Amino acid sequence: MVKDPVCGMGLMEEKAPFKYEYKGQFYYFCGKGCKERFERDPEKYLSGRPVDWIADEEQ
Ligand SMILES: [Zn+2]
Repeated sequence: MVKDPVCGMGLMEEKAPFKYEYKGQFYYFCGKGCKERFERDPEKYLSGRPVDWIADEEQ
């Protein structure tokens, strides 16, 4: 079990639809939107604080 660092959803590594390598580590995502957000600003999502990206999406 891995965690989508963007939305916090738990994912099965082998079933996660999107994956991205950053600093030698793989991160897994539930969807394209999460992966793209991570690519844009990985540090933001690795800082450990919750990110309210759904509200941001609706703007
Ligand atoms: Zn996600």
